[in-house]
Amino acid sequence: MRIANRNRVLVTGGAGFIGSHLCQKLLADGNDILCVDNFYCGVKDNLAGVAQDPHFELMRHDVTFPLYVEVDEIYNLACPASPVHYQSNPVQTTKTSVHGAINMLGLAKRTKARILQASTSEVYGDPEIHPQPESYWGHVNPIGVRSCYDEGKRCAETLFFDYHRQHGVEIKVVRIFNTYGPRMHPNDGRVVSNFIVQALNGEDITIYGDGSQTRSFCYVDDLVDGIVKMMASPAALIGPLNMGNPAEMSIRDLAEKILALCGGRSKLVFKPLPRDDPKQRRPDIAQARDRLGWQPRVGLEDGLGETIAYFKRQMAA
Ligand code: NAD
Ligand code: UDP
Ligand code: UDP
Repeated sequence: MRIANRNRVLVTGGAGFIGSHLCQKLLADGNDILCVDNFYCGVKDNLAGVAQDPHFELMRHDVTFPLYVEVDEIYNLACPASPVHYQSNPVQTTKTSVHGAINMLGLAKRTKARILQASTSEVYGDPEIHPQPESYWGHVNPIGVRSCYDEGKRCAETLFFDYHRQHGVEIKVVRIFNTYGPRMHPNDGRVVSNFIVQALNGEDITIYGDGSQTRSFCYVDDLVDGIVKMMASPAALIGPLNMGNPAEMSIRDLAEKILALCGGRSKLVFKPLPRDDPKQRRPDIAQARDRLGWQPRVGLEDGLGETIAYFKRQMAA
């Protein structure tokens, strides 16, 4: 028998960057949250603002192992997302995406919970079609250094669609494009956090390659609004749905923008381009706009301003 009638929501990877913002939003919306994380690259500090909430529960657990709990909704975010982290133990990265998806889908099947997968623009690899629509099957190296992440996420999508077709599990698949904001880990190696930390410390800003490669950066609050909206959408909308900000820029332009916003005397320096680094990336978000009524609202300067203020507070603490 259930005593409470609040929605019971499981967030895997909830101690990470996006997961911690998601937990905060879901709590504010009146849900009971079970956050599961093995702290591979997430930290408890990210959850400091919600840890004391009686409707929030934190469990140390690795999703590659089975999990028996009773829930109504599952957001499956567990997976290292920065190339430095996901390449440091690539076998564990694939296991997290594949075994993690199997376990969470098994859990969803047993509890009849609706389940959302945090997939990625990396399923498109180094894309030959630009911008990328959901119908594009991608251009992924299956045996390269990024494959543990890309192919793991692709296989997770396969599992989601097969659990849906074979077992009737209610699924939602969102392909997330580069997202940034407060609570990115200062050492996790992603470009926005690297450049801000370097600029604030007066260190060289490390551009990989010649900086002509492009990305499109979405502020975390926009992204979290989108995935919560996707979870609440009619059952027929299963995705995959691109979610990101279509405002595309080169990495060199990003470095200059961050340097201008942070001030300081850092120099731009050029380092070797990592293998298989995608040359261009921009989401086609027509489906998210038309079918979900979602589009990002926060511009790059405002979002970077919030992020820079966060890193300044962290460094002063
Ligand atoms: P993050 O690294 O900050 O968070 C991931 C969390 O998952 C961490 O707290 C980590 O400890 C946890 N985790 C890793 N392996 C686990 C395991 N086996 N069991 C339990 N927990 C585990 O990353 P993020 O940026 O918050 O990304 C969250 C999700 O969104 C990931 O699935 C990522 O692939 C996806 N995504 C993120 C972006 C982005 O730009 N941030 C883009 C595309 C997709
Ligand atoms: N599983 C889980 N929690 C549950 C139900 C299942 O972690 O509440 C795991 C279980 O370990 C299993 C996986 O999910 O290996 C897939 O479950 P499914 O029912 O699809 O497969 P089966 O149990 O038949 O192998
Ligand atoms: N990058 C860079 N300097 C850094 C970190 C990253 O020039 O200090 C580049 C990286 O080579 C890539 C882009 O910035 O072209 C985005 O990198 P990130 O790791 O943030 O995300 P992803 O490559 O997964 O999109």
